[in-house]
Amino acid sequence: MTDAPAHAARTPTTASLDGLAAELRWAVDRGLTRSRAYREQQLDGLVQMLLQHASRWEAALKADLGKSDIEAHLTEIGFVVAEARAARKSLRRWMAPTRVAAPLALQPATARTIAEPLGATLIIAPWNYPLHLALAPLVGAIAAGNAAVVKPSEVAPATSRLLAELAPRHLDQRSVRIVEGGVDETTALLEQRWDLIFYTGNGRIARVVAAAAAKHLTPTVLELGGKSPVYVHRSADIPAAARRIAWGKWINAGQTCVAPDHIRVDREVAVELVEQLRLATSEQLGDARTSPDFARIVTERHVERLRGLLDGGTVVTGGEVDADARYVAPTILTDVDESAAVMQEEIFGPILPVLPVDGVDGFVEAMRGRDKPLALYVFARDRDAVRRIERETSSGSLGINVAVAQVGAAGLPFGGVGESGSGAYHGRHSFEAFSHRKAVLSKSTAIDTLRIIYPPFTELRGRI
Ligand code: NAD
Repeated sequence: MTDAPAHAARTPTTASLDGLAAELRWAVDRGLTRSRAYREQQLDGLVQMLLQHASRWEAALKADLGKSDIEAHLTEIGFVVAEARAARKSLRRWMAPTRVAAPLALQPATARTIAEPLGATLIIAPWNYPLHLALAPLVGAIAAGNAAVVKPSEVAPATSRLLAELAPRHLDQRSVRIVEGGVDETTALLEQRWDLIFYTGNGRIARVVAAAAAKHLTPTVLELGGKSPVYVHRSADIPAAARRIAWGKWINAGQTCVAPDHIRVDREVAVELVEQLRLATSEQLGDARTSPDFARIVTERHVERLRGLLDGGTVVTGGEVDADARYVAPTILTDVDESAAVMQEEIFGPILPVLPVDGVDGFVEAMRGRDKPLALYVFARDRDAVRRIERETSSGSLGINVAVAQVGAAGLPFGGVGESGSGAYHGRHSFEAFSHRKAVLSKSTAIDTLRIIYPPFTELRGRI
């Protein structure tokens, strides 16, 4: 769609949300969203919405999270543009039926799967990457031919408002709506019957979403979080490990679902790692307080939560908190108490506990009985150590000598396992997440080879 005047941009009240799912499903049932041309047009509209207003998105992300322009492009605007462009380019291939070999017993016949849209979908997004996590799932919804309601997070209000303002100008309102709001609006939406609910956020609300979905047997994709650990083996290139971990942890001030939550490091290299982390932090951010490249905490309430986590260990570097400025310094903690809050809950901020461990056995033992994390990172040059971590731990994704970067590997599915979520997306996986794979078997009636299995089973008797 072109940059037409806004219509229906107003945020609806909860009463006016009634019937929204049915209205959008009707559009899908009528075939509005099915053609490849329509999907391409909508994906183009999405890209235009991001690129034509890039400076407004940057300003919104700065207001919500103090993100630098570069970070806004790398992790939000640019990411979604790349996803939308890749989807547009691949649509013909993704939409094509997949042939499957028909078993001998059924031949002559053809078997294939057809990807069909699920219908009216609901996307509920969190605040930490408020643009990326609202729109990357929308790319999948559109590519697969669905209608979608996107409910951005009220905790990132500037981005939410801008989405509500710009989406109606660039996307067809008959199949895409932005509904702003918090618990009341989300609750009203969840009462309706959707064909898929795609939720990104914490595990507590995921249970509310899953319970609401269960009432209508609606499938869900749940993109959740947890404590993503890092294991640093004694064979690792310690300075390189420190630089990569520091980047993955400090980006967006640690408010990243796949950020390294804490580090377990082989005892013999622990002192060296902490020193290198300190160096890498100072190289990357200098004085973080004045660095244009270090984000802010989303709200004062979240700052206070993080302040409360600082007493779980000894502060090696950082530790400063300024609630008014929504600033928490990049902080490294040692002498960490395993039973402290910082080791019990997802940190989701710039606090990095470092704990010593005794080899792969010690790390694997520390993981046992814990929730399966969204990501797990191992830094090692020893192949056996890497292989053991690969085989003996479970996580949504595994980064070997990298942190966070796996999210940018187009082609890899992004999702959790167990407590960190279910279902996955990105690239073709997004298309599949928002599609139903219909199984189709087609057999000519010219020769009835099935006759052998009709009763009476005279011919089969004695042969089976
Ligand atoms: P949040 O507070 O913005 O909540 C997420 C969404 O749930 C919002 O849209 C909010 O309006 C809605 N919500 C809140 N209360 C609700 C209720 N009672 N009923 C229905 N909906 C409700 O974000 P958050 O949950 O604090 O996000 C942070 C969490 O998300 C972390 O655990 C993080 O690891 C996880 N996360 C996961 C991913 C991923 O892709 N797997 C990405 C980002 C964040």
